[in-house]
Amino acid sequence: MRRATRRSEPSPKTRPTVPLLRFLGATGTVTGSRFLVDTPRARVLVDCGLFQGLKALRERNWATFPVEPASIDAIVLTHAHLDHSGYIPALARNGFVGSIFATDGTYELSRIVLPDSGHLQEEDAAYANRKGYSKHTPALPLYTEDDAQRVLQRFVAVRFETPQEVAPGIRATFRRAGHILGSSTVALELDGTRRRWIAFSGDLGRPHHPILRPPAPLAAADVVLVESTYGDRHHEDVESLQRFESAIVRTAERGGVIVIPSFAVDRTEVVLYHLRQLTRAGRIPSLDVYVDSPMALATLATYRRALDTDSEEVNPALRGAGDPFDPGRLIEARQVEESMAINARRGPAIIISASGMATGGRVLHHLANRLPDERNTVILVGFQAEGTRGRSLLDGARAVKMLGRYVAVRAEIVNVPAFSVHADQDELLGWLRSAPRAPDTTFVIHGEPGAAAALHTVIEKDLGWTAAVPRYLEQVRLD
Ligand SMILES: [Zn+2]
Repeated sequence: MRRATRRSEPSPKTRPTVPLLRFLGATGTVTGSRFLVDTPRARVLVDCGLFQGLKALRERNWATFPVEPASIDAIVLTHAHLDHSGYIPALARNGFVGSIFATDGTYELSRIVLPDSGHLQEEDAAYANRKGYSKHTPALPLYTEDDAQRVLQRFVAVRFETPQEVAPGIRATFRRAGHILGSSTVALELDGTRRRWIAFSGDLGRPHHPILRPPAPLAAADVVLVESTYGDRHHEDVESLQRFESAIVRTAERGGVIVIPSFAVDRTEVVLYHLRQLTRAGRIPSLDVYVDSPMALATLATYRRALDTDSEEVNPALRGAGDPFDPGRLIEARQVEESMAINARRGPAIIISASGMATGGRVLHHLANRLPDERNTVILVGFQAEGTRGRSLLDGARAVKMLGRYVAVRAEIVNVPAFSVHADQDELLGWLRSAPRAPDTTFVIHGEPGAAAALHTVIEKDLGWTAAVPRYLEQVRLD
C-alpha cells in the first residue's frame, strides 16, 4: 500500500455549488455498489462494484461511466466483495488515477479477488473469441489481471475508528461492519458552510457472525445509506442450521454427494465452521470435505492469519481454540487436476466450491456432474440474485444451462439463507437504531425492489424516520 497523493482539484466549471450524492449503482439490485459524493472541492466514489446477475445489469459494466473517471479524486472501499470492488480496475483503465482507501483486511482480500476477477475477464474474452460470441471482434476483457495488479498499488491503508482525509474537505471514518474480514461501514464528514455527515452501511454483517466481531454502532449522521439485501426477511438461524444438518445426514445415508456453491470470501469459512461444530457434536457423520476453489483457499489462509495475529476483527472466543475451519477431514484442492479428480469421487462427501451463485468457477463442473443424480444434494448458503443459476435452482428449475448444455436437476436443493453474512430486517433496524439521533434522510439501497420496499416501510413505520428508495443515477443535495 502507498501513501495518499493529493490531486489537483476539479476545474471550476465542473464543480457543483452544493455537495451532491449520486446513486451510480446498487439501486433495485444487490450489485454494482457505486455512490458518488460530489462537493465543490472534491469528488469521492464510495465503492466501485461490478454489476452482476441479469444481463441488463451486467451490460452497465460496459457502458461509459456516468462521470469522467479522471475527475474522481479517491475511492473509499467498504469491503472486498466484487460487487463493491470489482469495477475499480476498469475505472483505472478508463482514467481514474486517485487513491483507494481501505482497511488492511480489505486490501488483503482485494489482493486475492481483483486479480482473479481480471483473470476471469480475460478468460471470458478468450472464450467469446473462440466461440465467436462477441459483438466486438476481437472481444476485449473489461480489464486484465495486470490491470488489477496495478490498481492494488494505489490502495492506502486506513485504521478502524480513525478519521482520515481522503480528498480535500472530506474525511472518512471506517468502522467494523462484521460482514467479511476488513469490512466496514464508512462515515464521510464533509466540510462546507454546514458540516455534513454521510454514513454508508456497506454490507452489514450479522451480530452473531461466528468468526467476526459484530458491527460497530452507527454514529450520528445527517444522511444514511443502508443496504437491504435481506430487507424483507428474517433469518431463522435455528431452523436453518437444522435444515443444513438434516440435509447432510439424509444425503450421507443415501450415499450421495453434497455440493455447496459458496462465495469464496467468508462464506466458505462460515460453512467450514458449522461443519466442524456439527461434526464434533456428533450431529453429522465425519465426511471428507473438499474445498475446491483456489480463491476460497487463499481467503482461508487470510482468515487463519487474522486468527493467529489476534486481529481486532476476530471474535475473541475463537482465540486458542484450535483451527475453527477444519471439520476433521478437510481436503484442499488447489490444482485443476485435483478438482477434476473429485468428479470420480463416490459419496458420501461434501464439496464446497465457488462461485456462490453458480455464475462461474469450478462449482459448475461439480453441479453438472452431480445435479442429475437424485441421491445428491445442493445446499445454497447465500443470497441468490435474479438471473443467476443459483436462483434458478432455488426457484425449482428442472434443468439449468451450464458449460454450454442443459443439465437435468434431480438432486435435492436445500436453501440455508441463515449462513448469509448479511443482516436481516431486524438486524438492519437494530443497526439503524444504534444511532444517537435520526438522520434527515435514510436511503435504502443494495436490495432487489421487494426487499428495499419492505425495509423502507419498516424504517418509516417502526423508526419514524424519513426514508427513500433511490432510482438508478438519481442525484440528491446533501446541504
Ligand atoms: Zn459483501
